Amino acid sequence: MFDFKCEASELANKVILVTGAGDGIGKQAALTYASLGATVILLGKTTKKLEDVYDLIVEQNSPQPAIIPLDLKGATKQNYIDMVATIKSQFGRLDGALLNAAILGELSPFTQIHDQIWNDIMQVNVNAQYLLSQALLPLLQSTNSASLVFTTSGVGNKGKAYWGAYSISKFATEGMMQVIADEYDTTSVRTNAINPGATDTNMRSIAYPGENKQNLAAPTDIMPAYIYLMSDKSSHVNGQVINAQAASN
Ligand code: NAP
Repeated sequence: MFDFKCEASELANKVILVTGAGDGIGKQAALTYASLGATVILLGKTTKKLEDVYDLIVEQNSPQPAIIPLDLKGATKQNYIDMVATIKSQFGRLDGALLNAAILGELSPFTQIHDQIWNDIMQVNVNAQYLLSQALLPLLQSTNSASLVFTTSGVGNKGKAYWGAYSISKFATEGMMQVIADEYDTTSVRTNAINPGATDTNMRSIAYPGENKQNLAAPTDIMPAYIYLMSDKSSHVNGQVINAQAASN
Protein backbone atom coordinates (compact mmCIF):
# COMPACT_ATOMS: atom_id res chain seq x y z
CA MET A 1 0.00 0.00 0.00
CA PHE A 2 1.00 3.60 -0.54
CA ASP A 3 2.46 4.82 2.74
CA PHE A 4 1.32 8.17 4.14
CA LYS A 5 0.82 8.98 7.81
CA CYS A 6 -1.53 11.90 8.25
CA GLU A 7 -2.52 14.17 11.11
CA ALA A 8 -6.04 13.97 12.60
CA SER A 9 -6.79 17.39 11.10
CA GLU A 10 -4.86 16.87 7.85
CA LEU A 11 -7.62 18.34 5.68
CA ALA A 12 -9.11 20.84 8.14
CA ASN A 13 -10.86 23.82 6.51
CA LYS A 14 -10.55 22.37 3.02
CA VAL A 15 -13.53 22.18 0.67
CA ILE A 16 -13.31 19.05 -1.48
CA LEU A 17 -15.57 17.81 -4.27
CA VAL A 18 -15.84 14.02 -4.70
CA THR A 19 -17.59 12.57 -7.75
CA GLY A 20 -19.15 9.14 -7.47
CA ALA A 21 -19.38 9.77 -3.73
CA GLY A 22 -22.36 7.50 -3.16
CA ASP A 23 -20.64 4.15 -3.48
CA GLY A 24 -17.36 2.25 -3.66
CA ILE A 25 -14.07 4.11 -3.46
CA GLY A 26 -15.68 7.57 -3.78
CA LYS A 27 -17.91 6.90 -0.78
CA GLN A 28 -14.91 5.89 1.34
CA ALA A 29 -12.88 8.89 0.12
CA ALA A 30 -15.74 11.24 1.07
CA LEU A 31 -16.04 9.70 4.57
CA THR A 32 -12.26 9.79 5.02
CA TYR A 33 -11.80 13.38 3.84
CA ALA A 34 -14.65 14.49 6.12
CA SER A 35 -13.14 12.62 9.09
CA LEU A 36 -9.92 14.62 8.57
CA GLY A 37 -11.78 17.93 8.76
CA ALA A 38 -12.77 18.65 5.16
CA THR A 39 -16.14 19.95 4.06
CA VAL A 40 -17.03 17.46 1.37
CA ILE A 41 -19.30 18.09 -1.61
CA LEU A 42 -20.85 14.78 -2.58
CA LEU A 43 -21.59 14.45 -6.29
CA GLY A 44 -23.23 11.34 -7.70
CA LYS A 45 -26.04 9.83 -9.69
CA THR A 46 -28.21 8.18 -7.03
CA THR A 47 -29.55 10.72 -4.54
CA LYS A 48 -30.42 8.10 -1.91
CA LYS A 49 -26.84 6.86 -1.82
CA LEU A 50 -25.55 10.42 -1.44
CA GLU A 51 -28.03 11.02 1.40
CA ASP A 52 -26.79 7.91 3.18
CA VAL A 53 -23.18 9.13 2.92
CA TYR A 54 -24.32 12.56 4.11
CA ASP A 55 -25.89 10.94 7.20
CA LEU A 56 -22.75 8.90 7.92
CA ILE A 57 -20.63 12.07 7.76
CA VAL A 58 -22.96 13.88 10.16
CA GLU A 59 -22.94 10.83 12.48
CA GLN A 60 -19.14 10.87 12.62
CA ASN A 61 -19.31 14.55 13.71
CA SER A 62 -17.44 15.79 10.66
CA PRO A 63 -18.15 19.15 8.99
CA GLN A 64 -21.58 19.30 7.37
CA PRO A 65 -21.30 18.07 3.77
CA ALA A 66 -23.31 19.12 0.71
CA ILE A 67 -25.02 17.01 -1.93
CA ILE A 68 -25.03 17.53 -5.71
CA PRO A 69 -27.13 14.91 -7.51
CA LEU A 70 -25.91 14.88 -11.09
CA ASP A 71 -25.88 12.20 -13.78
CA LEU A 72 -22.61 12.67 -15.65
CA LYS A 73 -24.09 10.86 -18.64
CA GLY A 74 -26.68 13.53 -19.33
CA ALA A 75 -25.12 16.63 -17.77
CA THR A 76 -24.47 19.59 -20.07
CA LYS A 77 -21.69 22.16 -20.10
CA GLN A 78 -24.14 24.63 -18.53
CA ASN A 79 -24.93 22.16 -15.70
CA TYR A 80 -21.23 22.14 -14.75
CA ILE A 81 -20.93 25.92 -15.01
CA ASP A 82 -24.01 26.33 -12.78
CA MET A 83 -22.69 23.75 -10.34
CA VAL A 84 -19.37 25.55 -9.94
CA ALA A 85 -21.21 28.87 -9.49
CA THR A 86 -23.23 27.26 -6.68
CA ILE A 87 -20.09 25.90 -5.00
CA LYS A 88 -18.49 29.36 -5.26
CA SER A 89 -21.49 31.13 -3.78
CA GLN A 90 -21.97 28.61 -0.95
CA PHE A 91 -18.36 27.90 0.03
CA GLY A 92 -16.38 30.72 -1.56
CA ARG A 93 -13.68 28.36 -2.80
CA LEU A 94 -12.66 24.82 -3.70
CA ASP A 95 -9.41 23.25 -2.46
CA GLY A 96 -9.69 19.87 -4.11
CA ALA A 97 -11.66 17.75 -6.56
CA LEU A 98 -11.49 13.96 -6.74
CA LEU A 99 -12.84 12.95 -10.16
CA ASN A 100 -13.65 9.36 -9.24
CA ALA A 101 -16.99 8.50 -10.89
CA ALA A 102 -16.70 6.18 -13.87
CA ILE A 103 -18.43 3.27 -15.52
CA LEU A 104 -16.99 -0.02 -16.70
CA GLY A 105 -19.50 -0.90 -19.42
CA GLU A 106 -19.00 -4.51 -20.38
CA LEU A 107 -15.88 -6.49 -21.20
CA SER A 108 -15.99 -7.83 -24.75
CA PRO A 109 -13.86 -8.43 -27.84
CA PHE A 110 -13.01 -5.16 -29.58
CA THR A 111 -15.10 -5.91 -32.68
CA GLN A 112 -18.15 -6.59 -30.50
CA ILE A 113 -18.16 -3.38 -28.49
CA HIS A 114 -21.68 -1.95 -28.72
CA ASP A 115 -21.75 1.62 -30.01
CA GLN A 116 -24.09 2.68 -27.22
CA ILE A 117 -21.75 1.29 -24.55
CA TRP A 118 -18.76 2.95 -26.22
CA ASN A 119 -20.62 6.27 -26.27
CA ASP A 120 -21.80 5.98 -22.65
CA ILE A 121 -18.30 5.18 -21.40
CA MET A 122 -16.77 8.06 -23.36
CA GLN A 123 -19.49 10.39 -22.10
CA VAL A 124 -19.09 9.53 -18.40
CA ASN A 125 -15.37 8.68 -18.23
CA VAL A 126 -13.99 11.27 -20.67
CA ASN A 127 -16.39 14.01 -21.81
CA ALA A 128 -17.81 14.62 -18.35
CA GLN A 129 -14.28 14.80 -16.85
CA TYR A 130 -13.34 17.33 -19.54
CA LEU A 131 -16.39 19.53 -18.95
CA LEU A 132 -16.06 19.24 -15.20
CA SER A 133 -12.35 20.11 -15.19
CA GLN A 134 -12.92 23.05 -17.51
CA ALA A 135 -15.56 24.44 -15.18
CA LEU A 136 -13.64 23.68 -11.96
CA LEU A 137 -10.16 24.98 -12.84
CA PRO A 138 -10.87 28.73 -12.45
CA LEU A 139 -12.36 28.12 -8.99
CA LEU A 140 -9.50 25.80 -7.99
CA GLN A 141 -7.07 28.52 -9.04
CA SER A 142 -8.55 30.93 -6.53
CA THR A 143 -6.93 29.12 -3.57
CA ASN A 144 -3.26 29.01 -2.54
CA SER A 145 -2.92 25.25 -2.95
CA ALA A 146 -5.47 23.20 -4.87
CA SER A 147 -5.48 19.59 -5.98
CA LEU A 148 -7.26 18.13 -9.01
CA VAL A 149 -7.19 14.34 -8.94
CA PHE A 150 -8.27 12.10 -11.80
CA THR A 151 -8.85 8.37 -11.42
CA THR A 152 -7.08 5.97 -13.72
CA SER A 153 -6.56 2.22 -13.78
CA GLY A 154 -3.94 -0.41 -14.52
CA VAL A 155 -5.48 -0.56 -18.01
CA GLY A 156 -5.02 3.21 -18.45
CA ASN A 157 -1.44 3.06 -19.71
CA LYS A 158 -1.22 -0.50 -21.00
CA GLY A 159 -4.06 -1.78 -23.16
CA LYS A 160 -5.63 -5.07 -22.17
CA ALA A 161 -7.64 -7.47 -24.34
CA TYR A 162 -11.42 -7.21 -23.84
CA TRP A 163 -11.22 -4.07 -21.69
CA GLY A 164 -12.09 -2.00 -24.80
CA ALA A 165 -13.78 1.32 -24.20
CA TYR A 166 -13.03 1.42 -20.46
CA SER A 167 -9.31 0.94 -21.03
CA ILE A 168 -9.26 3.53 -23.82
CA SER A 169 -11.20 6.00 -21.65
CA LYS A 170 -8.58 5.68 -18.91
CA PHE A 171 -5.77 6.37 -21.43
CA ALA A 172 -7.69 9.56 -22.25
CA THR A 173 -8.00 10.33 -18.54
CA GLU A 174 -4.25 10.07 -18.06
CA GLY A 175 -3.71 12.23 -21.14
CA MET A 176 -6.11 14.89 -19.87
CA MET A 177 -4.36 14.87 -16.51
CA GLN A 178 -0.95 15.38 -18.16
CA VAL A 179 -2.15 18.21 -20.42
CA ILE A 180 -3.72 20.11 -17.51
CA ALA A 181 -0.74 19.43 -15.22
CA ASP A 182 1.69 20.84 -17.77
CA GLU A 183 -0.49 23.85 -18.53
CA TYR A 184 -0.95 24.75 -14.84
CA ASP A 185 2.57 23.78 -13.79
CA THR A 186 3.47 27.25 -12.54
CA THR A 187 0.16 27.85 -10.77
CA SER A 188 -1.24 26.89 -7.37
CA VAL A 189 -3.20 24.01 -8.93
CA ARG A 190 -1.58 20.58 -9.09
CA THR A 191 -3.13 17.83 -11.21
CA ASN A 192 -2.46 14.14 -10.76
CA ALA A 193 -4.15 10.78 -11.20
CA ILE A 194 -4.61 7.94 -8.80
CA ASN A 195 -4.66 4.26 -9.71
CA PRO A 196 -6.57 2.55 -6.90
CA GLY A 197 -5.55 -0.99 -7.88
CA ALA A 198 -7.82 -4.00 -7.39
CA THR A 199 -10.37 -2.90 -4.79
CA ASP A 200 -13.50 -4.59 -3.49
CA THR A 201 -16.37 -2.56 -5.02
CA ASN A 202 -19.37 -3.12 -7.28
CA MET A 203 -17.28 -2.27 -10.33
CA ARG A 204 -14.66 -4.85 -9.45
CA SER A 205 -17.38 -7.50 -8.90
CA ILE A 206 -18.74 -6.83 -12.39
CA ALA A 207 -15.28 -7.14 -13.95
CA TYR A 208 -14.28 -10.25 -11.98
CA PRO A 209 -17.52 -11.93 -10.81
CA GLY A 210 -15.95 -15.19 -9.65
CA GLU A 211 -12.90 -14.00 -7.75
CA ASN A 212 -12.21 -14.43 -4.08
CA LYS A 213 -12.79 -11.00 -2.55
CA GLN A 214 -10.62 -11.81 0.44
CA ASN A 215 -7.58 -11.16 -1.75
CA LEU A 216 -8.79 -7.65 -2.61
CA ALA A 217 -8.03 -4.41 -0.88
CA ALA A 218 -10.99 -2.75 0.81
CA PRO A 219 -11.65 0.91 -0.03
CA THR A 220 -10.38 1.85 3.46
CA ASP A 221 -7.02 0.17 2.74
CA ILE A 222 -6.21 2.46 -0.19
CA MET A 223 -7.08 5.77 1.50
CA PRO A 224 -3.49 6.87 2.32
CA ALA A 225 -2.86 7.75 -1.35
CA TYR A 226 -6.20 9.56 -1.58
CA ILE A 227 -5.44 11.59 1.53
CA TYR A 228 -1.89 12.38 0.39
CA LEU A 229 -3.03 13.88 -2.91
CA MET A 230 -5.50 16.18 -1.12
CA SER A 231 -3.05 17.13 1.63
CA ASP A 232 -0.78 20.17 1.26
CA LYS A 233 2.09 17.70 1.74
CA SER A 234 1.66 16.79 -1.94
CA SER A 235 1.69 20.41 -3.11
CA HIS A 236 4.93 19.79 -5.07
CA VAL A 237 3.52 16.76 -6.92
CA ASN A 238 2.18 17.49 -10.41
CA GLY A 239 1.48 15.39 -13.50
CA GLN A 240 2.00 12.06 -11.73
CA VAL A 241 0.10 8.78 -11.53
CA ILE A 242 0.10 7.60 -7.92
CA ASN A 243 -0.49 3.90 -7.32
CA ALA A 244 -2.57 3.35 -4.18
CA GLN A 245 -1.37 -0.25 -4.00
CA ALA A 246 1.94 -1.82 -4.93
CA ALA A 247 0.30 -4.27 -7.35
CA SER A 248 -2.20 -2.40 -9.47
CA ASN A 249 -4.91 -3.67 -11.75
P1 NAP B 1 -18.23 1.77 -8.28
O1 NAP B 1 -18.29 1.00 -7.02
O2 NAP B 1 -18.95 1.28 -9.46
O3 NAP B 1 -18.65 3.28 -7.96
C1 NAP B 1 -18.71 4.21 -9.00
C2 NAP B 1 -19.34 5.49 -8.53
O4 NAP B 1 -19.48 6.35 -9.67
C3 NAP B 1 -20.72 5.29 -7.93
O5 NAP B 1 -20.88 6.13 -6.82
C4 NAP B 1 -21.64 5.71 -9.08
O6 NAP B 1 -22.87 6.25 -8.65
C5 NAP B 1 -20.82 6.81 -9.73
N1 NAP B 1 -21.27 7.00 -11.11
C6 NAP B 1 -21.32 6.08 -12.09
N2 NAP B 1 -21.90 6.60 -13.18
C7 NAP B 1 -22.22 7.88 -12.88
C8 NAP B 1 -22.87 8.92 -13.58
N3 NAP B 1 -23.34 8.74 -14.83
N4 NAP B 1 -23.06 10.10 -12.96
C9 NAP B 1 -22.63 10.28 -11.70
N5 NAP B 1 -22.02 9.33 -10.97
C10 NAP B 1 -21.83 8.14 -11.55
O7 NAP B 1 -16.70 1.92 -8.75
P2 NAP B 1 -15.34 1.97 -7.93
O8 NAP B 1 -14.72 0.64 -8.01
O9 NAP B 1 -15.55 2.62 -6.62
O10 NAP B 1 -14.47 2.91 -8.90
C11 NAP B 1 -14.11 4.23 -8.58
C12 NAP B 1 -13.05 4.68 -9.56
O11 NAP B 1 -11.89 3.83 -9.43
C13 NAP B 1 -13.47 4.58 -11.02
O12 NAP B 1 -12.92 5.67 -11.73
C14 NAP B 1 -12.83 3.29 -11.49
O13 NAP B 1 -12.61 3.30 -12.89
C15 NAP B 1 -11.54 3.30 -10.70
N6 NAP B 1 -10.91 2.00 -10.50
C16 NAP B 1 -11.46 1.06 -9.70
C17 NAP B 1 -10.82 -0.15 -9.48
C18 NAP B 1 -11.39 -1.21 -8.59
O14 NAP B 1 -10.78 -2.31 -8.48
N7 NAP B 1 -12.51 -1.00 -7.91
C19 NAP B 1 -9.59 -0.40 -10.12
C20 NAP B 1 -9.04 0.58 -10.95
C21 NAP B 1 -9.71 1.78 -11.12
P3 NAP B 1 -24.18 5.30 -8.51
O15 NAP B 1 -23.80 4.27 -7.49
O16 NAP B 1 -25.24 6.22 -8.09
O17 NAP B 1 -24.39 4.70 -9.88
